[in-house]
Amino acid sequence: MTGAVDVLYREIILDHYRMPRNKRRAVEPSVVVRHENPLCGDELDVAVCLEGDVISDASFDGRGCAIAQASASMMTGAVRGATVHDALALVRRVEATVSGEDVDLPGELAALSAVAMFPVRAACARLAWGALAEGLNPMRPTRS
Ligand code: ZN
Repeated sequence: MTGAVDVLYREIILDHYRMPRNKRRAVEPSVVVRHENPLCGDELDVAVCLEGDVISDASFDGRGCAIAQASASMMTGAVRGATVHDALALVRRVEATVSGEDVDLPGELAALSAVAMFPVRAACARLAWGALAEGLNPMRPTRS
């Protein structure tokens, strides 16, 4: 990764942290899942509204570090309008990226690859995605 890309990715993450998208208490969500990362003190509630098989709205609330909140902000924007199947596929790609695998992610989500350089932050980046996956697929093991 070049220095310029690294700076861009940091700016994207800071932008989402300072101005989180979809950070609000959900109104009549289909499902709400709280995940916590005690190592960092992150606590996020992820709420999803489902219309059939489509995510009509996604939001989050709670507190967390810059990485956790930025990742949640990006997640809620990325999955709105997606099918459950596509959203779960995206979760797997994000988790692979944060783990350091070379996976192409669309748009600003690519910034999450910067987190792979800081393994201690991976749990922060995964938090909202893990909560989403649990909400969409209750059979899935809950903690990643
Ligand atoms: Zn954190």
